Amino acid sequence: MKKSLILAIAAALFSLTVQYIRAEEININTLIPVKIYITTHDDVYKFNALGVGIEELKDGYIEARVTREKIDELISSGWKVEGRTIEKVDPKIATQYHNYTQMTSFLDSIHSLYPAITKKVSIGKSVQNRDLWAFLVTDNPDSNENEAEVRLAANIHGDETVGRELCLAMIDSLTKVYGSIITIKDLVDSREIWFMPSLNPDGYELNQRYNANSMDLNRNFPVPDGSIGEDDTYNNEVETQRMIDFWSGKRGVLSLNYHGGALVANYPWDYTVVRCPDDALAKEVSLGYSRLNPPMYASTVFDSGVTNGWDWYYVYGSLQDWSYHVTSCLDITMEIGTKWPPASQLPSYWSDNREGMLYFIRQAGWGLQGIVTDSLTGLPINWASVVPFGIDKPVYTDTIGDYHRMLMTGQYDLIYSAIGYHEKWADEVRVRIDSVTNLDMQLAPILITGIVSDSGGGNPIPGALVEIVGLRSDTTDSGGTYQLRWNQDDYYSLKASAAGYTTVIYDSLKFENDSTINFSLSTDSGVAGRPGVNVFITRLEQPYPNPGRSGIHIRYQLAASGPAVLDIYDITGRRVKSLPQGTVPAGAVRTFTWDGSDRFGKKVSAGVYFCRLTALGIERSVRFIMLK
Ligand SMILES: [Zn+2]
Repeated sequence: MKKSLILAIAAALFSLTVQYIRAEEININTLIPVKIYITTHDDVYKFNALGVGIEELKDGYIEARVTREKIDELISSGWKVEGRTIEKVDPKIATQYHNYTQMTSFLDSIHSLYPAITKKVSIGKSVQNRDLWAFLVTDNPDSNENEAEVRLAANIHGDETVGRELCLAMIDSLTKVYGSIITIKDLVDSREIWFMPSLNPDGYELNQRYNANSMDLNRNFPVPDGSIGEDDTYNNEVETQRMIDFWSGKRGVLSLNYHGGALVANYPWDYTVVRCPDDALAKEVSLGYSRLNPPMYASTVFDSGVTNGWDWYYVYGSLQDWSYHVTSCLDITMEIGTKWPPASQLPSYWSDNREGMLYFIRQAGWGLQGIVTDSLTGLPINWASVVPFGIDKPVYTDTIGDYHRMLMTGQYDLIYSAIGYHEKWADEVRVRIDSVTNLDMQLAPILITGIVSDSGGGNPIPGALVEIVGLRSDTTDSGGTYQLRWNQDDYYSLKASAAGYTTVIYDSLKFENDSTINFSLSTDSGVAGRPGVNVFITRLEQPYPNPGRSGIHIRYQLAASGPAVLDIYDITGRRVKSLPQGTVPAGAVRTFTWDGSDRFGKKVSAGVYFCRLTALGIERSVRFIMLK
């Protein structure tokens, strides 16, 4: 064989190996710690295309780990690259911290002293089989109460250790003074405070940033854009997956995760220049912490000690972005100084951060809250969504129906919805960021009712079985009537049967409104069922094209005849145009084209808009985007 062919085969084999290499086989020793000097801040946005993950952004350079080959490539394209040494921590100092064993027995001892207000949970095991501890401080820790959930986590980077000790110190303080200081008792009783002192216990024991598979866990979470981690090829590490499993089931409001290496409160997003829906709020709670941390607030690098994640440097796969995107829990990356300072400095870190921690715990329970229940049964509705109109970030109710939504002080229109229920708006609700506004909400279930009667004489048939096929059923009363809940977001068949009659089935039904479906059953077994009865629903479809440029088409249908109005709102909730539709007959599918002009005939600016259909006493709304 020719040499070039052999090389080609070798290259092909090599690329296969690289492609299928498993995470645990990556050897960190092949990556060299370097400083890469930058001239302007915009340089930090070039590293993703170069395949370089930023570990830290310093003054005038970034820190990263790259291969020998990558170093050559960077130098030849004009970057100044230098090796750097990784500081080793004096093991004598490290032992003054709580290592894994000490941390575990510390948590055990607190729990045995205060079992009524604490709970220790293992959310799973690390690569090296250490428990990932979550420690809850609240009254009645075994029951889910109407309380905001807040999370203080640390040590996702194994060598950034101060936050871990702050968590333990706060657990110690809260439990110790619970019985004697009334404000602390109130705080603990009215919040569910989750501490996660070490998200990467292996990294701590190994004295390294990474987990035991040499993976950076704060680059390992699903990214809101749909990719996974820094280069879209990472598999979720076990520590990441356990965190996802644990927190996805919660309705967390606010959280922080502690880091070291800088001194700044960093708020979402990390992965994109686009501002997050709660940008003003995210900045405000970051400032709230910073103001209570004098060295952070006095920062000469960051304005008032806070920064938007992307503005500082981009990160793909951070816990912060995942937490906010998937669970609606606003998460702040809290950089609090030196990574692993001597233990003698821990008291001063504690004094700098203690008030900020308490502020976070308090803030999580402020804003709008309430309980969402079923208007017929009074039972709580789980996973009902609450959206402030114009802020594209819902929060969801917990199993006992409670929701908690932090908001900047202001006036909001709120949309409450849940599968199987009529959407409900609460208009012009005044909310403050620094106190609690209570608003309970009852949602009416979507009901299907009707009469089952004899097709011959028209007499009602008592005892007939009416069934949403595969889901639930009701038996008709003496008047032949039935009632069923339609709490499905999908198509189902509705079937009526009675002894001596031919069964009738209506196929492919989906209801977004209360509806009456009558059945007329025949005793004549020669006639097949499935009569041609038209069943209509009120619906507003997603406008198209979306995004729209010169205009959009809006299609809708009404369940019954009546006047309809379409209104267009901008993202701030301001109505830009009203489009009366006149009286629309039942079941007719109408398409209306909006040319993108406001009430003065002027073309609206590019951005997010909402279309609201109002008819028959109900409202439907959909979101779309207009381009320039
Ligand atoms: Zn870190």
